[in-house]
Amino acid sequence: MRTRRRRRQIRGNPISSGYAIGVVSHYLTPGHVFRIHVSEDAVPQEIQRLRHAVEGSRRELALLRSRVQQRGGDEMASILDAHQMLLEDPSLVERIVALIRSSQANAEWAARRVLEELQSSYEAAEDEFFQQREMDTWGLFERLHRRLSGDAAPRSSGPGVTLVADTLNLALLADFDLNDLNGIVVATGGYTSHTAIIARSYGIPVISGIPQVRELIPSGSRVILDGYQGLIYVDPPNGLIRDYERKIRQEEEHYHTLLAIDRKLPAVTRDGERIILEVNVETEDEVKSVLEIGAEGVGLFRSEFLYIRERDQPLSEDKQAAIYSSMAQRLYPLPLTVRTLDIGDERLPYLEDVKRGANPILGLRGIRLSLRKPELFKSQVCAILRASTLGNVKLVLPMISSLDEIRDAKLLIQDAGQELGRRGCPFDPDLKIGIMMEVPAAFLNAEALAREVDFFSIGTNDLIQYVLAADRTNEDIADLYDPLHPAVLRCLDEALRVAAGERIPVRVCGEMASDPIFAMVLIGMGVRNLSMNPMALPYMRRLVRSIEREKMVALAGHLLQLRSPREIRQYVKECIEPLLSADLQEVFEQR
Ligand code: PEP
Ligand code: MG
Repeated sequence: MRTRRRRRQIRGNPISSGYAIGVVSHYLTPGHVFRIHVSEDAVPQEIQRLRHAVEGSRRELALLRSRVQQRGGDEMASILDAHQMLLEDPSLVERIVALIRSSQANAEWAARRVLEELQSSYEAAEDEFFQQREMDTWGLFERLHRRLSGDAAPRSSGPGVTLVADTLNLALLADFDLNDLNGIVVATGGYTSHTAIIARSYGIPVISGIPQVRELIPSGSRVILDGYQGLIYVDPPNGLIRDYERKIRQEEEHYHTLLAIDRKLPAVTRDGERIILEVNVETEDEVKSVLEIGAEGVGLFRSEFLYIRERDQPLSEDKQAAIYSSMAQRLYPLPLTVRTLDIGDERLPYLEDVKRGANPILGLRGIRLSLRKPELFKSQVCAILRASTLGNVKLVLPMISSLDEIRDAKLLIQDAGQELGRRGCPFDPDLKIGIMMEVPAAFLNAEALAREVDFFSIGTNDLIQYVLAADRTNEDIADLYDPLHPAVLRCLDEALRVAAGERIPVRVCGEMASDPIFAMVLIGMGVRNLSMNPMALPYMRRLVRSIEREKMVALAGHLLQLRSPREIRQYVKECIEPLLSADLQEVFEQR
């Protein structure tokens, strides 16, 4: 019997703009696996489900293995081999089958039970080889679980996939070829979460804030995502699909026309102030678009995505060096600023020993973790140094809150340099070292820090969350997360004043730099280097060319006098928003 699907329109919060038309694939994080009773009659069907999932996982592994081989990823290949080996063991599958039968339970639960037992036996072995196998069983479980949830392997699912998941996390993106993913809908996730930022860099629309999202949007349904308005159309009529196809075409044409006209024009205000426009990237393949859009360098390379993609073991120094070197060469003479690992609440098996804690965002994040894991930090620094021979690489340390952290990190960087010297590896002896200014303590002690480093990169995403005690990933308190709050503006003003006094360059690389209104305020406050989401850059260049810096200085000066967030919002609405020319208002709304 054919079931008629109900057409539906659902509204959520738009957190990455753009349109998408795709077929839904559910993504489950295998954290919660419930035991579900299956009737005796349904047991064979459950076993069949398991066998399909095992078969699908085998095919997926073989495909991934051949891709990895082509790219020469030895470590990844060995992980995939280990998963494959576990799956080939007939006794493992038969144990799961037996448990499904004996306890009349669902395949997910039985698979988890059997793999957990296996994991504990490896754990007890206290041998490095077996401990490694312990991680492999977890990785294999994730894979099997995804298959059991009814979805094809993400990486082999081809273009046009719209992902529906409970929450936005980086591991979710690491599973996909980002060029195949055309949209994401999640129950929870905020505008400045890392996943949302990456999605924006790739132009992938994201809509969040929809409870029970998986029940509302079934796997396999056709959807339209309107990432400007936060609308999702489930199983839309053909006429609407045609309308959105037209919008997608228009949007692409618009973007390319803008690029064709402006790409080579310098970002200079009408009164002659040169503003440097760089981009933030998270993957090496974004370099291509950095060059295409005419950015002036990579102001922030968030290296953590590389680690998350690698998953079960740390990314080797050689592999990192190859990635950073290739990026630096392709960008040359433009700069590449690599930020050392800043893992937030994402879980990596080899960090489990130090990353425990109820709130990792206030825990061992950024430089704090690096100083607890000096070998991990040094291997990354060696890789960055090895990529620096052309002289266009810079290094930036995340989450600095004290002078001691900078000094300790610099000692480790020195060690890494000496180590390379012993190995005879060349590197840039003048490599510039900067810090992320994103913890309030750093702003309160900015002078001392500025004397110790070559530049400041202001990370407004974290600064706002820490100054205002407002979680950046929680869209329910988006109104509290206020970039123009007087306390935030005061921090920015202080960092700019200190940097000017100490004659060190400053860039702003948080998402504020991608927003036209905030960018006008920042320019007025004295910022001359903005590093942003690549999708925003063509529009930002046009904005810079349309404004007078002197006027921005006057407006920002007035804004800094105001003490109430409400008054500030009012002032922005009345005096700054109207300065955005009509065509720019349109293009920014279009984004
Ligand atoms: C920031 O905090 O503003 C920043 C640029 O870093 P991230 O978003 O990666 O925390
Ligand atoms: Mg940050």
